[in-house]
Amino acid sequence: MASSSYTNSPCAACKFLRRKCLADCIFAPYFPPEEPTKFANVHKIFGASNVSKLLNEVQPHQREDAVNSLAYEAEARMKDPVYGCVGAISVLQRQVIRLQKELDATNADLVRYASGSARPPSQYGRRATTASVSTRHHSGLSFLSPLSSSHHDSTYCHDKEEGN
Ligand SMILES: [Zn+2]
Repeated sequence: MASSSYTNSPCAACKFLRRKCLADCIFAPYFPPEEPTKFANVHKIFGASNVSKLLNEVQPHQREDAVNSLAYEAEARMKDPVYGCVGAISVLQRQVIRLQKELDATNADLVRYASGSARPPSQYGRRATTASVSTRHHSGLSFLSPLSSSHHDSTYCHDKEEGN
């Protein structure tokens, strides 16, 4: 085993924990000394011994993904101590649902418009009398100004999305 590249400078974990970085250090491949905050975050949120236990439980080829996941979760938890990455996930899920509804409504309008059975959608006809509908409820998604303003999503926490 010629794994001498990191025997001189300890990995970020061993440096943080002030211990000798041995050749078989479980942290060394995933916590290089150039990224000290990666380990500091993970240690603060999960604890070094839990991380080493977890790394020993997963297959070697899965360890890098596991560490990346822990690092992401730890960072999210530092930013948002209450929801962690679940906060980001639920915001994105709500966004997907909202955009899906907008897409469905737009497609329905397009079908009606193409078949010539309806007036042009107000979004495209800027001079349309229903202009008040399209100017309302812009939530930072102006590229997709909602046609479907009829269903109100006022319960969504827009501040949160923009804060992240
Ligand atoms: Zn180490």
